[in-house]
Amino acid sequence: MAEFTMELNDEQKEVRDWLHGFAADVIRPAAAEWDEREETPWPVIQEAAKVGIYSLDFYAQQYFDPTGLGIPMAMEELFWGDAGIALSIVGTGLAAVGVLANGTEEQIGTWIPQMYGDANDVKVAAFCSSEPDAGSDVASMRTRAVYDEAKDEWVINGTKTWATNGGIANVHVVVAVVDAELGSKGHASFIIPPGTEGLSQGQKFKKHGIRASHTAEVILDNVRVPGSCLLGGKEKLDERLARAREKAKQGGERVKNAAMATFEASRPAVGAMAVGTARAAYEVALDYAKTREQFGRPVIDNQGVAFQLADMRTSIDAARLLVWRASWMAVNGKPFTAAEGSMSKLFASETAKKVTAQAIQILGGNGYTREYPVERMHRDAAIYTIFEGTSEIQRLVIARTLSGMTIR
Ligand SMILES: Cc1cc2nc3c(=O)[nH]c(=O)nc-3n(C[C@H](O)[C@H](O)[C@H](O)COP(=O)(O)OP(=O)(O)OC[C@H]3O[C@@H](n4cnc5c(N)ncnc54)[C@H](O)[C@@H]3O)c2cc1C
Repeated sequence: MAEFTMELNDEQKEVRDWLHGFAADVIRPAAAEWDEREETPWPVIQEAAKVGIYSLDFYAQQYFDPTGLGIPMAMEELFWGDAGIALSIVGTGLAAVGVLANGTEEQIGTWIPQMYGDANDVKVAAFCSSEPDAGSDVASMRTRAVYDEAKDEWVINGTKTWATNGGIANVHVVVAVVDAELGSKGHASFIIPPGTEGLSQGQKFKKHGIRASHTAEVILDNVRVPGSCLLGGKEKLDERLARAREKAKQGGERVKNAAMATFEASRPAVGAMAVGTARAAYEVALDYAKTREQFGRPVIDNQGVAFQLADMRTSIDAARLLVWRASWMAVNGKPFTAAEGSMSKLFASETAKKVTAQAIQILGGNGYTREYPVERMHRDAAIYTIFEGTSEIQRLVIARTLSGMTIR
């Protein structure tokens, strides 16, 4: 087990500086344009693929870094560049992690390369879990997958919503109900291969922020996939369902909503994205406050402004520490006895929302315009308190973990 450290080693510093260079030179100059266009920034993803930032190898390297700092460091730098573009670059990772975590070696080898494509022909992937009636309440999922034994095929029907890269993805990973009695324990994940009949994009959402990232509904109308597309395979699923049925019979396990706590290990990564956006807005505000003069002196010369900046920086550093701690715990298999993953995501996302609003205030009228980036950063920051579990759900998970009680 790696000791917890707040000091990046030389190799990590090199990676951080390389990512920072890409964020500063390639992502940030493109941010305003793709925000306005509200389209996937394919040329930027391609640039990222060319230099090796858009690839499974890169994320796997960071993911398996035993210090736990690889992923948060990478997320912070890319999202410092721009949240919408960075999400377009890392969004495929959500689906890839779904396959890495649950797939067989053969599934990993077959599907992950098709999620990324290559530098000459980049592809993206989508992870589709949320539904119109199943957002925070994952157990209310309705999309059904039924096994057709004669053909060894799964038939999937339902509507997914809010899918990042939904409909434009080469490979979709879809979570569906295979046993409705078991709540979220009766869910399974399926690969929907490129060009599968019956999968189509529903509405594409026009969003408040992260507008360069494509978010859409995905309609599944009698989608048929081979048995080999069930992640982990049928035998493993049958064993898992049998265990869950046994536990449900004994009444020893609360089946409904059990999924709420299962993202503990992935939440620090979202916290790190929020830290990146918050830091970007803080830096713009600090520079501005030092150069903008009113009443014959820089506006930072007023405690009212300087103290805000002091608070902003303090919260950002505190958020990063929570994120790094949770990330180190996840990589080293430490139990999240106080829902430390949720804590990090809750605090970092609320910090990003607050800090970006303070940045607008410090820039005055300029902060409120699209001539300056803090307005966009504030719009972008609002997503962190919503996706991968809202702030309320993080509080619920933390409170339940601390108390051992079914808090509603
Ligand atoms: C831009 C974007 C990208 C996304 N990408 C993906 C993706 O790639 N894949 C995917 O599967 N999903 C994705 N999501 C979905 C996201 O995870 C959900 O929006 C989120 O889980 C919240 O669900 P909901 O929107 O249905 O809100 P609801 O669950 O309807 O919540 C509404 C409000 O009620 C509160 N609330 C609900 N239940 C409770 C409770 N028990 N206690 C207290 N408060 C409660 C919530 O906190 C919230 O404030 C994305 C969403 C967005 C906006």
